[in-house]
Amino acid sequence: MENFDQTYIGTGPISVIDACFVNSAGSSVLMIDEKNQLGGAWVAINVGDYGHLEIGCHIWSYNKKAYDFLQTFFDLDLIELTPQPYFIKGKTRLIYDHKNGLTTLKNSLGYLKKFDLKKLGGYLRHHPAARLPLFPKKYLYPKGGARDLQKAIEEKVANSTITTALQTQITTLNKLDAGWELVTAEGKTYNTKKITLTATSAIKEINYLGKTIQLTHRYLNYTHFHLVVKNELLKPCSYIRVLDDKVIHRISDITYQLETKVDKGYTVILVGVFDAELAEFENAGDNDEKATKYILDYLVRKGFLDNDPTIAFAQKNKFETTYIAPEQIAEINNIDESISVMGTTDLIYGVYFKLKDWIKA
Ligand SMILES: Cc1cc2nc3c(=O)[nH]c(=O)nc-3n(C[C@H](O)[C@H](O)[C@H](O)COP(=O)(O)OP(=O)(O)OC[C@H]3O[C@@H](n4cnc5c(N)ncnc54)[C@H](O)[C@@H]3O)c2cc1C
Repeated sequence: MENFDQTYIGTGPISVIDACFVNSAGSSVLMIDEKNQLGGAWVAINVGDYGHLEIGCHIWSYNKKAYDFLQTFFDLDLIELTPQPYFIKGKTRLIYDHKNGLTTLKNSLGYLKKFDLKKLGGYLRHHPAARLPLFPKKYLYPKGGARDLQKAIEEKVANSTITTALQTQITTLNKLDAGWELVTAEGKTYNTKKITLTATSAIKEINYLGKTIQLTHRYLNYTHFHLVVKNELLKPCSYIRVLDDKVIHRISDITYQLETKVDKGYTVILVGVFDAELAEFENAGDNDEKATKYILDYLVRKGFLDNDPTIAFAQKNKFETTYIAPEQIAEINNIDESISVMGTTDLIYGVYFKLKDWIKA
């Protein structure tokens, strides 16, 4: 049986970039994913006749170094979002970078109150979002959304000697005298010297030196509606984080991401909804129609659509994710250097924090 130098459980962009550096330095690499495609949360799914559209992730935070790196590494075409992403609460609208500025101010004051100048300096120098923007930074995004990033990931892996095992779920990790044995749900095994997990790697059990970690997970469904309306938006929107609704948490106009053109006047809107609130619609009988109507009413109320918009196509998509408990991430990272968890919840900040390692490589 082949014994890989390094194995990644998960094929999200951060894992893939890391794997490419390890592989180009001469190590044999295996990448495993339980899904049938590479990309982790940066994947696209088929939406009726409208082609492949993003389903998991939808926004890049701002960081110039990470933007430059991703653009070059994946050869991506990045566009400036218009208008820039913003938060909405009632009549208040706050653009993302100004919200960042407020958070920076709040955190800095917190350190100053404690006279902790060392932590304040570290925060201002090293946190990728720490800035007080007079002139807000421009948020960029791949021209075709997550689909472009996913295609670029596939291309990078195809042009490497990385081995992939898709539709393969790892349940157990067993420490051997040298390296690790990975066991799949079907009982198949792989051997590797080193393992990299992510915070979303849904492993059940890790056995090492006579000890066992039974992993406890937090399960989260991210549900989105892809809605094609036969209406133009009355005011433009790229990405809106909704703070004033119990069901809807985000809205994006993703018409610009379509590979095939829609008829003039059609708009493709992606709406993220809270899963728990959606369950109330589901429990009450006909769910999707009611939920769709609820979303359209919100868009009309907020002035994005005219009264009585017409739906051409609607699709509800669930994206299931599992998070490892933070204290167990720490426990795994403490086993030894042959196993680690890359814990990140944000692509741009995750890339920024890894840049030094990658550039050194
Ligand atoms: C629904 C969703 C939306 C998000 N939106 C954004 C966003 O808009 N912007 C942003 O910057 N970040 C977002 N994130 C955070 C996102 O996780 C990171 O941007 C980035 O994808 C992290 O990359 P990663 O390599 O760490 O792993 P991930 O991209 O999380 O990929 C982990 C992969 O591991 C696989 N996996 C898990 N367990 C197993 C197992 N036991 N066996 C085999 N395979 C397994 C999963 O199938 C998954 O494909 C979002 C995350 C989720 C889940």
